[in-house]
Amino acid sequence: MIAEIIVTGDEIISGRILDTNSQWLSIQLEDLGVRVLYHTAVGDEVDALVSVFRIAIERADLIVTTGGLGPTKDDLTREGLAQATGRPLREDPSTIEHLKALFARRNRPFTEAHRKQALFPEGSRPIPNPRGTAPGIAMEVPRSGRGPAHVFCLPGVPAEMREMWARSVGGMVRAILGRGKVIVHRTINTFGRPESEVEALLADLPWGGPNPRAGINASEGTIILRLAADGNSEEECQALLEPLVRKIYERLGELVFGENEEGLQHAVVKLLRQQNRRLAIAEWGTSGLVGSWLGEVPDPAPYFAGGWVISGVESLASLLAVPPDLASQQDLRQSRVVEALAIRCREAFQTDLALAVGPFPQDTPHPDAPGQLVLALATSEGTQTRGMGVSGHPAIIKPLCAKHALNFVRLHLVKSGQGRA
Ligand code: ATP
Ligand code: MG
Repeated sequence: MIAEIIVTGDEIISGRILDTNSQWLSIQLEDLGVRVLYHTAVGDEVDALVSVFRIAIERADLIVTTGGLGPTKDDLTREGLAQATGRPLREDPSTIEHLKALFARRNRPFTEAHRKQALFPEGSRPIPNPRGTAPGIAMEVPRSGRGPAHVFCLPGVPAEMREMWARSVGGMVRAILGRGKVIVHRTINTFGRPESEVEALLADLPWGGPNPRAGINASEGTIILRLAADGNSEEECQALLEPLVRKIYERLGELVFGENEEGLQHAVVKLLRQQNRRLAIAEWGTSGLVGSWLGEVPDPAPYFAGGWVISGVESLASLLAVPPDLASQQDLRQSRVVEALAIRCREAFQTDLALAVGPFPQDTPHPDAPGQLVLALATSEGTQTRGMGVSGHPAIIKPLCAKHALNFVRLHLVKSGQGRA
C-alpha cells in the first residue's frame, strides 16, 4: 500500500509556517507498515488542488490531506476533492445540526460561511472532530482495474488533526490494511559500523514488512533498527518480534548498546553499575559533551565521579603540571599527552577508570579524509590509547566524537565484564 500526504495552504508554500503535519503523519503511517512515497504541498487554489488530488488518486492507495477545511474563502479542500472526483458537494444535515449546537454552546452566531463546513462530496463520510468545528472527510474513490483510493481529509491545526487520527482515522487505516488491534514496536540501537554495513549484516530481515517489519535509520553515527509487529494481542506481537530481535543480537554482537531511548551514556552507566566501578573524564575536543550526556542518566553519581573540560594547551598544562611551552611541544605527540591526561585524571578523582578525549580532530588537507580523534582510558591494569578516524559534516563531528569516546569506554567495560564473569 502506497500513501501520499498532501498539505494545503499558502502559509506553508510561502515558508511562513513549517509543515509538521507531514512529518507526524508519516511516522504514524510508517508505524502501521504503510509506505509513504509522496509528500505534496499545495497552495490555496482550487485548480491546483484538483490536479494534486487527481495525481494522488492515480499513484497512491491511501491519501491523507491536512488543512483547508475551515469556513473561509481560502479553505478549498472539499471543492478540490469534489471536482477531482466528479462528485457534487451535498450538505450533510447531521453536520449542520452538530455545527449549530456547537455555535450555540460557544455563544457565537452560525453564519452562512460556516454552512460550507457541512458540505461533503457525494458518497463521502464526515470524520468527527471533537475539538474543532470542521469535520474531516473520508472517501473511497473507485479506480478502474484495481482497488479504490482511500482519501482522508483532516484539518490543518496540528492538535485537532492528531486527535482525529488517534480517535478514528488510524483505526480506519488499520481496518483497510486488515490488521489487528495491537502494535508493538521495538527499537535497537547500535554504534560502530555504518548504516550500509549494518543493513548488509541483516539482509534477511523483513525490511518494509508487512508483518513483522524492520526499518533502519542513522542519527549522528547511531544506527537505529526499528521493528514493529501487529496482531490481536501484545503476546502475539512479541512472538513475531522475538526471532528478529534474537537475530539482530546474534549477528551484531557488541555493536548493539541499548534499546528504545537508551543512549551510549546509559549503556556505560549500566555497565559501571553492574561492575561497581567509577569513571572520571577529561574532555578536550568534546568540550564537556560527554559529561553532559552522562549527567542525563538518572542518579549517575555513584558511578560517574565528574571530570574536567579542557579548552586548550594552557589549561592542559596546568592540569598536567607542566610548563605551557613544554605542553605545546608535547602536543605534537598527541597520544602521549592524552594518555598522560587520563592517568592524571584517574589519580585526581581516585576512580577505577578515567577517560581522556583528545583535541578536536584537525582539519585534514582533503575534506573527505577523516580527522584523528585520540582517546585514552586509564585503568588499574594500565592505559589504552586509541586513534579514531572521524569524518562527517562539521555540525555532527562533535557529537560523533562524544559517542566514539563513550563507546570506547563501553567496549572496555563489556570486555572486562566478560573477563570477570
Ligand atoms: P481552520 O478551521 O482552523 O481554518 P483548516 O482545516 O482550514 O482549519 P488551515 O486553515 O489550513 O486548516 O490551517 C489552520 C492552521 O493550522 C494554520 O494556520 C497553521 O497554523 C496550522 N497548520 C496548517 N497546516 C499545517 C501543517 N501542514 N503543519 C503544521 N501546521 C499546520
Ligand atoms: Mg482554514
